[in-house]
This record gives sequence, C-alpha cells and structure tokens, in this order.
Amino acid sequence: MSEFPFIPVAKPWIGEAEADAARRPILGGWVTQGPEVAAFEEEFSAYVGARHACAVSNCTAALHLALQAVGVGPGSEVVTVSHSFIASANAIRYCGAVPVFVDVDRTTYNIDPDRIKPAISSRTRAILCVHQIGMPCDLPAVLKIAEDFSLPVVEDAACAAGSEILWRDRWERIGKPHGVVACFSFHPRKVITTGDGGMLTTADKALDAQFRSWRQHSMSISDATRHRSARVIFEEYPELGFNYRMTDIQAAVGREQLKRLPAIIERRIELADRYTRFLSDIPGIIPPRQPDWGRTNWQSYCVRIFGDMSQNYVMQYMLERGVATRRGVMCAHRESAYSKPGSWRCGGLNCDIIDGSCGHLSESEEAQTNAIILPLYHQMTYCDQDRIIACFKAAVLASTSSRHERSDSVLHDA
Ligand SMILES: *Cc1c(COP(=O)(O)O)cnc(C)c1O
Repeated sequence: MSEFPFIPVAKPWIGEAEADAARRPILGGWVTQGPEVAAFEEEFSAYVGARHACAVSNCTAALHLALQAVGVGPGSEVVTVSHSFIASANAIRYCGAVPVFVDVDRTTYNIDPDRIKPAISSRTRAILCVHQIGMPCDLPAVLKIAEDFSLPVVEDAACAAGSEILWRDRWERIGKPHGVVACFSFHPRKVITTGDGGMLTTADKALDAQFRSWRQHSMSISDATRHRSARVIFEEYPELGFNYRMTDIQAAVGREQLKRLPAIIERRIELADRYTRFLSDIPGIIPPRQPDWGRTNWQSYCVRIFGDMSQNYVMQYMLERGVATRRGVMCAHRESAYSKPGSWRCGGLNCDIIDGSCGHLSESEEAQTNAIILPLYHQMTYCDQDRIIACFKAAVLASTSSRHERSDSVLHDA
C-alpha cells in the first residue's frame, strides 16, 4: 500500500457548526419534523428559487411521492434513463409502474431528448429526467417534448443542489423547478448532507400539500397543531400515507450545510477546472465537459477512458496506491433486480437484448464501463490533487502497456 494517507472518492464537509446545530433539537426536546424542518424548507426553497419545499427522509422517498402525485400508478409507464443510481428506476416500480429506459447523451451522460418520443406509449404517465452527478440535463428539450404529449416532468435532482441551467437567457438553479417537481438528496455522497435526507420542490401549492400529508401517514392534523391546541382533537387518516419524515436533528444539520453550499461549489469548480487543465493532454481519456446551457455543481468528476485501457486495471492500480475511484454511473437494466421480464421496458423500437446488453442503451452501457469517477471533495488540497493526477496518469500508462503485452503474448501463443 501507499506511504501516503488514503484518498477517498468523496468526503462530506461537516463539522462543529453542524454538531452545535444538532444540540438545539436534542436539548430542546422537539426532535422530529418540527420547527427545524420548517426553517430548513424555507431556506432551501429560497436558495433554489422554488415556491414550496417539502423535506422528507431521503430522495428515493421524494421520488416515490413525486411520481405518485403526478398520477403514476399500477400499469403506468415512466420514461427515464437506466444510466442512473438504481433509486431513480426503483421509485417508478414502487408505484407499480414500469420504467421505460432511453439512452443517454455521450457528453453530458444525461437523457438524450431525441430518444424520448419513440419511448412514449399510451401508458406513459410521466418523464423522470435525471441531472446526473450534478450535470443539468437538457431541460428545455425535455420539457418541449413533455408539453407536446401533455406529460408531467419530474426532475431527479438528487445530486444537483446548486447546479444551474440557462433558462430563457437567465441562469437559474435546478429545483425552481422547471419540471413539475424536483427531488433532492442529502446523502453523504451528495454535495451537502443531513446523514440521510431529501427535499421536494414545486411551484404547485396543491402538490406541496399532498407531499406534506403523505410524508406523515396522511394524518389530517399535524403534530404541531395538536401540540398547540387548547382543545382535545383527534386526527384522521383519509388515505394511505407513508412515514417519510425528516427529523429536526437532520434539518438543523441541513441548515448549516446550506450555508456552506456556495463555498462548497466554488471549491469544487476550482478543483474540477484544475483536473481538466492537467488531464486534457493525456491520450486516451476525455475529461467531462459542461454544455453551454448548464453549470454543474461538480458533485462528481467523471472521466471517460477509451482505446486500450481497462477500467478495472486503472481503478485497481490507483487503489493499491491509496487513491479510491468509482466506475461510471451504473445501469439499472444490467442488475439482477431488473432481470425479471416486465420489470422494465426498452424505449427503443425493435428492442434487441443479448446477454443482458441492450442495443438501444449502448451509450449508457459504454458510459458505465468506460468512465471513472476521480476523488473530489471540499477539503482536497492541491497537493492531494497532484497526487491523484500523477497516479491516474501512471495508471493509464500502465494499463495501456499491459494491454499491449497481453495482446503480444496472444500473438506469440498463436
Ligand atoms: C443518490 C441518488 C438518489 C437517491 O438518493 P437517496 O437520498 O439516497 O434516497 C436518487 N437518484 C440519484 C440520481 C442519486 O444519485
């Protein structure tokens, strides 16, 4: 192993301020979904520019509520990408619906708008677009198609707090939202964290009210109202709800994290620019690039490798030298959880699935197997980054030559 300290792929920037904030609800006695949650919602909605924000236990729960609220149910289809964290597609299945996968665009790793139309059927009830690893998807194009077919758009903005999109000549934050609902995650792997946590933002008051009801078992009276009431009141449960509450301890932490978010993004931009500067001259790799109309928060820095290189070799080489990496974003359709017929549908015409590979999802599969996520976190020093860059360059070189040696030996054996 390396004589240098281990470099993880990600690390939350969290400390004394959050620990102090957590004392408030803990010592105050109101520990779940109370005043801290309300304040966090208000501050988060102000930050992204949304009219309403509703905090929940995690982003997967947020996606479930969002999809159900826009009318996704048993027998429905939702057009989305396979190339995402599995939670995107899972949330569709929680509704009893079928995810219909379309391929991604090669440069942004996001849904290719041109492939949406053929994927739409009479059963389609929504489009779930993902702002993958913080990179905004082509929302104007997605929304145009959605409008043509009168379909609601739910944005999986799990990784995209602080990312921006050029919207009618103005830069706006993801989560305003531009679709009907946007869903955020505060898992430690994202740019800000509450341990676990999620948020739904919308401009629609009725939807917001629906989320607030469902997250708390559809209880007709909130805890706060009952707590304040001078008279005895009994709550009712008019429909099936869920326990998707965020705690006040999480929200208190989230409020401090939100204050750090501008600095976090600034630092990530700086480090990402520096990566790109130093990696651009390496043959066989393509650094990530933002489209003209989008600004990522650099939740992850994902490099594409091609030619003779082996993803596994490069990652193992770096790991042995104390640098953690991750492969490109997964593809849900390649997991056993999606092997059962009917658990998903391919959005391409005349689908051809051979050995688990789908001809219509080749960009997605290619991005999974030929991309590597390099470490990126707020506390990373230039010195750390120089070490990562040097290690990556050496790994790339070693991978390329090891391939040549192997193919040489195959020739000799023949
Ligand atoms: C992390 C992530 C989720 C799930 O978020 P949780 O808060 O862990 O439930 C969903 N979608 C995408 C794209 C993600 O990256």
